[in-house]
Amino acid sequence: TSFAHFGFPEKLLDSIARQMYSEPTPIQKQGVPVALSGLDIIGIAQTGSGKTGSFVWPMIVHILGQTSKSYFNGPKGLILAPTRELVIQIFNEARKYAKPAGLVCSLTFLTILSVTAIYGGVSKHEQIQEIMKQNPDIVISTPGRLIDIVKDGGLDLKSITFFVLDETDQMLNLGFERQVKSISDNIRPDRQTLLYSATFPRKIENLARKTTSNPVKITV
Ligand code: AMP
Repeated sequence: TSFAHFGFPEKLLDSIARQMYSEPTPIQKQGVPVALSGLDIIGIAQTGSGKTGSFVWPMIVHILGQTSKSYFNGPKGLILAPTRELVIQIFNEARKYAKPAGLVCSLTFLTILSVTAIYGGVSKHEQIQEIMKQNPDIVISTPGRLIDIVKDGGLDLKSITFFVLDETDQMLNLGFERQVKSISDNIRPDRQTLLYSATFPRKIENLARKTTSNPVKITV
């Protein structure tokens, strides 16, 4: 499988080509076709496996494929990650393919999508302002801060149709189970869900049962 086999839109393929990756990693080869087909995924994969691309690329295709004016305004893609560091790491990966905030992109970039990272430890008010200004298509957040911002009316989850839980075992280790569950319960049940975890103990299995439907399990 090469990147060309994924059937990605040309602009996305161009952006990937710019990264000079020689070929998709195993999680990308296995996960991308499943994600593009609209199915839920439980991905058992470590950091460094290239899993970020395996969910960010299908998320972009999913969003580009939606009619330009969907019924609900607001972000279509939500990625939850355990820490601020990981949120920033995913943001840096995602913005290679989406529109970086405040920058004018060349026409060869995907100029249509915008992505915002939100996390605790910085001003909530400023993040809400940023969300209002950017009107992001993709939001990447830690669970606690996301709930705070939703409670304050800074973000509405009803437009989310593509939901990713990254490093789920770490989110549970950090005590975010209740928050993750609550966020999941507030996203429309017919969304597509991709759950990634380095390990798959009973606790994750239980959470996966509550957050995904008929998932395809992929282990790399
Ligand atoms: P991740 O596991 O998603 O955090 O990715 C780990 C690193 O691998 C990141 O620096 C990515 O930019 C890089 N990467 C992602 N996909 C590929 C690929 N197909 N070939 C080589 N490197 C990649």
